Amino acid sequence: MIIQRVVLNSRPGINGVPTTENFRMEEATLLDKMSEGQVKVRTLYLSVDPYMRCRMNENSGSDYILPWKLSEVASGGGIGIVEETKDACFSIGDFVTSFNWPWQTKTILDGKQIEKIDPHLVDGHLSYFLGAAGLTGLTSLLGIREKGHVTRGANQTMVVSGAAGACGSLAGQIGFLEGCSRVVGICGTNEKCSILVSEMGFDAAINYKEEDVVQRLRVLCPDGVDVYFDNVGGDISAAVIGQMTPNSHIILCGQISQYNKDVPYPPPLPPATEEIRKARNITRERFLVLNYMDKYPASTMQLCQWIKEGKLKVRETVVKGLENIGAAFQSVMSGGNIGKQIVHVSD
Ligand code: NDP
Repeated sequence: MIIQRVVLNSRPGINGVPTTENFRMEEATLLDKMSEGQVKVRTLYLSVDPYMRCRMNENSGSDYILPWKLSEVASGGGIGIVEETKDACFSIGDFVTSFNWPWQTKTILDGKQIEKIDPHLVDGHLSYFLGAAGLTGLTSLLGIREKGHVTRGANQTMVVSGAAGACGSLAGQIGFLEGCSRVVGICGTNEKCSILVSEMGFDAAINYKEEDVVQRLRVLCPDGVDVYFDNVGGDISAAVIGQMTPNSHIILCGQISQYNKDVPYPPPLPPATEEIRKARNITRERFLVLNYMDKYPASTMQLCQWIKEGKLKVRETVVKGLENIGAAFQSVMSGGNIGKQIVHVSD
């Protein structure tokens, strides 16, 4: 059977900005023969995520993320439907997901690699299992629960950077649900700011490309910042940390502003900011959602319940066609998305 797939065409270079030319769509043959324990699936949705930038380098810089190989199919989070099965745990028509789904229209996967998903949990919005009801939602929820020290009734102010993205837009809302009394987002366009406030319930939002972040934080967080959900790092984080209260907490989720640079992860803070952090006893522990797998089932149920109850508003930016996956990834890296970026491969 002839299928389409997307391979890594070239590497952007460790200090380079990824382009669509780094990916190439091509035809390939999918073997008809399946072994016991395998399932053939048609791809419905694929996820593009900032961590994939590390996979474009020859050395990903971490032991839990493998680099993509040149001219080999790329992979990431995916959702599909079972079309043939040699694993008794799966039936034709089952919806399934995997963190390691090849970027191709159809594929054969080991049954042990995939997990069934129930569309009823998300009112039929299957792609939510790549976002709000998947790793993205788990990152926001577990990041706050494990590293945020949010205490109901403690009148805490949370600031979220990358606030209109997949993790950020959920993190701000979960901040409220978990007990923060004020949430302020930082993001890159006025449209995003307005969505955060009018749709997602943030108290205020700052456009870091047009506004003076320090000055705005002083006005919008008059009692200082108690919890900082950090998706971006760099100058924005230095500005936020300067406004943090003694014994406050940084949830070190990601540092996207540094991903096109040859720096270690997590990148050290600039010396003056590190001084402030130490003097005020602000925690900045690395957070990795993969370290909390035992908490996924209960946390996923919590996320699905909030989504169903309308307590967690979900935004997606959906691009159609496997051929556009490289552009979708590039868009995430440059702020083109609002909420979770999804690639819709087939109906
Ligand atoms: P997003 O949907 O937030 O997309 C990335 C966003 O980052 C863009 O939309 C853009 O929005 C913003 N951005 C891009 N470049 C810069 C920059 N130089 N400075 C400031 N903002 C920038 O992606 P995710 O929600 O998937 O990921 C968010 C973060 O969470 C990433 O750092 C990612 O690596 C991390 N992550 C960490 C996990 C963990 O286990 N710790 C798990 C999953 C994700 P804007 O318009 O605002 O610039």
